[in-house]
Amino acid sequence: MSKKKNHLKPCPFCGKKAHIVQNSLHSSYYIGCKTFIGELGSPCPGSIAHQSSRFCYVTEQLAIEVWNRRPQESNDTGKS
Ligand SMILES: [Zn+2]
Repeated sequence: MSKKKNHLKPCPFCGKKAHIVQNSLHSSYYIGCKTFIGELGSPCPGSIAHQSSRFCYVTEQLAIEVWNRRPQESNDTGKS
């Protein structure tokens, strides 16, 4: 077993590095990038700001597993 336990895949939306965050209030974990996009600096769809309200997990390991399992979103393929 040479799997790195805490290896996080990059954000599926922007491809930037993902971070794991512990919500100390609720003892939950979530993962996201810290990227802001657009002229107004809106958070990336995969950013921590979005993840905190959508994907929270009771353990760090579970959060990592789910994050790494998420399919890469590719909305701009197969369009013609
Ligand atoms: Zn992102």
